[in-house]
Amino acid sequence: MKVENNKVVSFHYSVSDDSGETVDSSRERGEPLTILAGHGNIIPGLEKALEGHAVGDSFKVTIPSAEAYGARNEDMVQRVPKKYFQQGDRLKVGDVSVLALKEGGHRVVTVKKVGMTTIDVDLNHPMAGKDLDFDVEITDIRDASEEEIAHRHVHGPEGHQH
Ligand code: ZN
Repeated sequence: MKVENNKVVSFHYSVSDDSGETVDSSRERGEPLTILAGHGNIIPGLEKALEGHAVGDSFKVTIPSAEAYGARNEDMVQRVPKKYFQQGDRLKVGDVSVLALKEGGHRVVTVKKVGMTTIDVDLNHPMAGKDLDFDVEITDIRDASEEEIAHRHVHGPEGHQH
């Protein structure tokens, strides 16, 4: 079986940025990442790179920022009241925090400046503007259920959990 649209794919990965520093690794967490292929669960460049691979395949791929988290936008610094952060009083410059959005959902932000009652945050994804080097190993491929395809994401062994 090969990776193609509507397959559930598990894989280990490490990703490093231009500086060579590892920024994320499923191996460190001890659990492979499991995604539904063809539904935008992961960045487009990695989705494309997985296609056609089989279980046991290991490969390295460099994904340009345009196919990863996009370009950095320097106008995306915003001043936000501290109360909107979970631990607003503890944040310092350079910290990465999660901000709940009014319209629902969450956004990963980087602290640029801390004031008395507000925090300036960079809304760019921390990996925006970076070319990423992935080291991937495919550990499992299976057919997706109809329910998973309808929901456009993977369900665990106990079925639907949200
Ligand atoms: Zn679901």
